Amino acid sequence: MRAIQIAAPGEIGLVDIPQPVPTAEQVIVAVRACGVCRTDLHLLDGEVTIPHPPVVPGHQIVGTVVAASATEPLSGEPLAPGTRVGVPWLGWTCGECRYCRSGRENLCDLARFTGRDIDGGFAEFAVVDRRFCIPLPDSYGDLELAPLLCAGLIGFRALRLAGDGQRIGLYGFGSSAHIVAQLAHAEGRSVFAFTRPGDTRSQRFARELGADWAGGSLERPPVELDCAIIFAPAGELIPAALAAVCKGGVVVCAGIHMSAIPSFSYDLLWGERILRSVANLTRSDAHEFFALAARTPIRTKVSRYELDATPEALEDLRHGRFDGAAVIDVAAGGPSPEARR
Ligand SMILES: [Zn+2]
Ligand SMILES: [Zn+2]
Repeated sequence: MRAIQIAAPGEIGLVDIPQPVPTAEQVIVAVRACGVCRTDLHLLDGEVTIPHPPVVPGHQIVGTVVAASATEPLSGEPLAPGTRVGVPWLGWTCGECRYCRSGRENLCDLARFTGRDIDGGFAEFAVVDRRFCIPLPDSYGDLELAPLLCAGLIGFRALRLAGDGQRIGLYGFGSSAHIVAQLAHAEGRSVFAFTRPGDTRSQRFARELGADWAGGSLERPPVELDCAIIFAPAGELIPAALAAVCKGGVVVCAGIHMSAIPSFSYDLLWGERILRSVANLTRSDAHEFFALAARTPIRTKVSRYELDATPEALEDLRHGRFDGAAVIDVAAGGPSPEARR
């Protein structure tokens, strides 16, 4: 099958590898679409380590179950062939560690992640654990769904952890923020969007999606914020966001990697301001989020690329060349386009 592989930092390309075979509890999924995430860029650049390269990246998979392992599942129903499923970043957890046993499987000591520890979705087929597949609402097409599987899900978790403050700042207005802005707007909150300085195109895009204000990342917003989420991987945004939130305000860092955080005066944290990160997701986040997405339509803006153009999509993401999300349309040029929605 055709797949995109990262062999070493900076080395990415299209390869022809054997189709994977499912083992116990796994199913094989024909990939229809897979969203591009900033984490894929961190993996390519070696900022997030790939334990056993080469690996097929991609952890926002929308696909169709083709077949299950020949082994009977240990528990629950097998996933029927033909079912459309989503495969997110969380690919496997131990179920036994202190985190798994306390509803925090996102922090599992032994967790395995799709597209880092397990081959991911920039390929014609993926073998995934059926227990970590997410049922998807019928009201969305494949390409529109893909960015919801990480940008949407992590954004949703970050939004919940930011609390229910009325005035919310979003730093870095990319794939995740363009979804979170819509969720926050639907909840009746005021959204303040921070982009790269001078990026008037992204600022206009943010206003189109309901942001009350949009400006450069180091600007002070016109009012004090109640909370802020930082999506951009730039450590200097932490003191900027802390300076923008009110006493008791919450700043959530939603990325897996960030450049070094400059030292800052304790005054910025004083006043019971809270600074925290968000790591990964739980399956319960996923079920809650997709139930919400079924009730509240989310409009994802998608830039479409074919599988062999994945490296180009990553460079376009690096340089901020599109609004919204990049999605690899794996089914385009694939063996069975008639199976697509
Ligand atoms: Zn665990
Ligand atoms: Zn991601």
